[in-house]
Amino acid sequence: MANSHVLITRKRLLVLLLILIILIILLMTRVGYWSLWRGEDLKAQAESQWVKDIEVSAKRGSIMDRNQQILAQSAAADTVVLLPEKIEKAQNANEIADQLSQILGLDRNDIYEKATNTDKKEIWLKRQISTEQSEQIEALGLEGVAFRDDVKRFYPNKDFAAQVIGYTTLDGEGQTGIERRYNTTLAGRAGRQVAETAKDGSGVPNGQEMMIQPQDGLNVVLTIDEITQSFLESACKELYESQAPESVQGLVMDVTNGEILAMANIPEFDLNSPPREDAEALSALSTNVITATAYEPGNIFGIFTAAAAIDSGSAAGEYSCTGSFATDGDVVSCLNGAHGTQTLTDAVLDHCSVGAAMQANAMGRDVFYQYVKGFGFGSETGIDFSSDTAGSLAEKRYIRNADVAAMGAGEGLEISQIQLASAACALINGGTLYTPKLVLGLSDAEGNMVESYEPEVRGQSVTAETSAQVRTIMEARAKEDGISLTGYSAGAISGSAVQHKDSAVVADKAVATYIAYAPADDPKYMVMITATGVTATDSVESVCAPYVQNTLLGTLKNGNIMPDETLQPEETVTVPNVVGMELQEARDALADIGLRSSYDGSGSVVSQFPTAATEVHKNSTVALTMETKAIQPEGTEMVTVPDFTGMDMTQAKNTAIASGLVFVARGNGVVQEQSPAAGTQVSRGSSIVVDFKLQIAAAQ
Ligand SMILES: [Zn+2]
Repeated sequence: MANSHVLITRKRLLVLLLILIILIILLMTRVGYWSLWRGEDLKAQAESQWVKDIEVSAKRGSIMDRNQQILAQSAAADTVVLLPEKIEKAQNANEIADQLSQILGLDRNDIYEKATNTDKKEIWLKRQISTEQSEQIEALGLEGVAFRDDVKRFYPNKDFAAQVIGYTTLDGEGQTGIERRYNTTLAGRAGRQVAETAKDGSGVPNGQEMMIQPQDGLNVVLTIDEITQSFLESACKELYESQAPESVQGLVMDVTNGEILAMANIPEFDLNSPPREDAEALSALSTNVITATAYEPGNIFGIFTAAAAIDSGSAAGEYSCTGSFATDGDVVSCLNGAHGTQTLTDAVLDHCSVGAAMQANAMGRDVFYQYVKGFGFGSETGIDFSSDTAGSLAEKRYIRNADVAAMGAGEGLEISQIQLASAACALINGGTLYTPKLVLGLSDAEGNMVESYEPEVRGQSVTAETSAQVRTIMEARAKEDGISLTGYSAGAISGSAVQHKDSAVVADKAVATYIAYAPADDPKYMVMITATGVTATDSVESVCAPYVQNTLLGTLKNGNIMPDETLQPEETVTVPNVVGMELQEARDALADIGLRSSYDGSGSVVSQFPTAATEVHKNSTVALTMETKAIQPEGTEMVTVPDFTGMDMTQAKNTAIASGLVFVARGNGVVQEQSPAAGTQVSRGSSIVVDFKLQIAAAQ
């Protein structure tokens, strides 16, 4: 039984195989018939009817400023090609190589090689040449040299806002910045032309033709204002040239809605000729540091810690700084030594890291973290741009008390400049955190806005009351720093951070940031400038201040913000040298330019404070030290000058007041010298001039 079953199966297989073989033979015969007997016929048929399918490119949209001033535009530009067959006939390869190498700045031998390469019908020599080059070549009338239509991206302002606008490939593909972020919108959609043609491209009678029209790209209208941008760029360039930092970044924002009016990165590069062959240089130059790079913010963060302390109701009346603050074995220190006992305002103004650490710790991890997140730190800002780093903020559960203290002082977290600027706007405007905006909307070829982007609120960072209190602190900063905007009141905040390179600290270098806004009573514009890798000095925090001031003044005028007529600008004068003058002569010289004077004694002036050439506000007092002490009239109380050595500012001031002396301070830190010397008998109400010097904290 089993054997017969196997036999049947084999028979079936054999039949199947036979059928297969027959089929294959049939197929082969048919293929042979078509290719051997009918092949020529088919070929002829195919050659008579071709379908031409050509892509019809769309015009790339422009990039414009908020007043529709063109910042990037596509324009026709010739591409020059070589036709080797024609060149061979004309025997002019040498002439072509000589002439074109000169006009186009290309290698002569390279051109010659291409011109004589008859394997190819057409060779592209150089794309998107200038009109001038095109005209020069055309005038030569060289046989075998032709032009093809091409489109070149053109940036009329060259390096203007280079890292914001971005650049494209030669084929018009956006690589960085707005060109990249809005590539699809700008590019539009290519069309197609499909037609039946003869082999030579000529039309076929009754042939079918179909055209899909291209859809041109839309224009991207930025929030950038060309005029404000040029104010900012010249200020940043001036800073870059005078202070020799590694780089400078600048930003102008409308604090009422998050719109960016200007954004600059120095050094810049010409967008018309990016260094395409040097990838490293191109990447460094085209990076928008403001949105792409995160760094440790340092003491400027103190303003946010203070705002959180005020807002959460955890702010204390006084903070006592001994120069360092230890939590869980970690230490936060003030680089310039102890600040002594101070109010929250003074702690912020003095960049007291210890005070900031104390405020953060008093709030506690959960509350502090909530505020840090509420200011937008640790998340992307949502800016409509090609880069938007979230920075680096540890997850809450990994944060210890020591980390809270450090973060309060701006250490142990990383933020981007755009995060900092957006958060600062929220501090100033009543607490509203807006998404920073670079694009106002999209417009069509006729300039009609087809889409407008409204301001976006991300959240409420602090209450309006807290914001008002913070503004008072910032107004004090602007006054102290002498920010002077004729006719406008201002607020400011400054800070410096440690400069890092390849995760190591760079000694003697710092990142300095200055922020100012105006008008103080109804804030509209904020300017922020950061110098990266600037020389670290005692006054590094304010290195960017004059440049911020100039940009802000220009922005206010350009924005048609009316100056406050009632505001009397505080006039400054230069202190003259009165040493050696007789008393009355010296007092008259000072009074002539609006300065008061204080003196004790008679004869000629031995020394003065402030010294000659110092800039001071009008009505300031200049203390004069005289040759001979005045003979004390009867009844005048005499006091003994105490020893101020080693005291800090607060201690010295209190001691002077307690002794009935007028306190005149010079410098910062602890007392090094004093005049008159300790033990001297002087009349009550005399001036005591005390010299302070900074001391580097021993504890590290
Ligand atoms: Zn301190």
